[in-house]
Amino acid sequence: MSSETAAKKIYDLLILGAGPAGLTAAIYGCRANLSVLVLEEMVSGGEIATSERLDNFPGFPDGISGAEFGQLLEKQASRFGAEIVSASIEKADILGEIKKVSTSRGEFYGRTMVIATGTSPRLLGVPGEDLLRGRGISFCATCDGPFFRDREIAVIGGGDSAVKEALYLTRFARRIFLIHRRDKLRAIPFLQDQILNHPRVQILWDTVVKRFNGEQQLESITVEHLKDSTTKELPVDGAFLYIGRIPNTGFLKDVEMDGQGYIITSEEMETSVPGVFAAGDVRRKFLRQVVTAAADGAVAAMMAVRFLEDTLS
Ligand code: NAP
Repeated sequence: MSSETAAKKIYDLLILGAGPAGLTAAIYGCRANLSVLVLEEMVSGGEIATSERLDNFPGFPDGISGAEFGQLLEKQASRFGAEIVSASIEKADILGEIKKVSTSRGEFYGRTMVIATGTSPRLLGVPGEDLLRGRGISFCATCDGPFFRDREIAVIGGGDSAVKEALYLTRFARRIFLIHRRDKLRAIPFLQDQILNHPRVQILWDTVVKRFNGEQQLESITVEHLKDSTTKELPVDGAFLYIGRIPNTGFLKDVEMDGQGYIITSEEMETSVPGVFAAGDVRRKFLRQVVTAAADGAVAAMMAVRFLEDTLS
């Protein structure tokens, strides 16, 4: 369906984001006979589509590529009748009976809404970072890893993402510096065991990035060792940043969020606004995983069904 046609209709369920939470909400919504529109800015699958492998989703004993998983989710949601429109979300007016979303491709309307916009990479905020994004600085090992075959690169962060993606990058890079601000990794033990003794990974403990250097392309990183305050320059061609994520809620107001911008919900995914639900990584929650995002999406859609039944009766 063209975005022009979709924009004129009032959907039973308007879903923002086509990651595991949004597309699961779409599957459940469609199967409950709701008319469903999903708005997505990037590709279906959300963040997991940029991950090389999804290894911990039940039912895939050999794992599955993140990109393929995203495509399968989209195919499944489409099979049940969900419409998916590619558009950049600019503003959401959610207080009225009909919720309105303004996007790069016009306005869209829904009687209920599920916000499943996920998160974006956090930035370091040091000199050179903006200039060299896409010129050696990357947030996606799967997308950009092959460009660094036999090169020396850095990965910044000490959590699951940094360690998992650094391990993936060992397929290409000759040497990887894992730069972490503390003397202990945050990543789960399973991942730590693999990285700590990897012959091509050198961990720089208690170290922070001060500056990315280069004009056209990244040439080196200036790092500081926090314990002795010494700085040095690491000549690297690539730097992959995995220092956590921030919620994609900048387009929203009128809904209760925590200090970091994550949406506060009940166990049933209800936000502070009636008829508006949040699901997946964008909400304040204990465990941000694909499996919990999918579960949130299912709950949110069924709550939307109940909300519509209650308001119509
Ligand atoms: P995370 O767990 O928040 O880790 C972020 C890492 O970056 C931490 O090591 C943190 O250091 C470091 N960091 C944060 N801000 C920094 C700064 N300004 N400068 C330098 N370093 C900074 O984020 P994540 O690794 O992206 O994971 C996010 C969530 O997804 C987690 O719940 C994780 O379990 C989950 N995840 C799971 C898998 C899996 O395979 N199961 C894979 C990826 C992600 P400190 O340790 O000192 O705080």
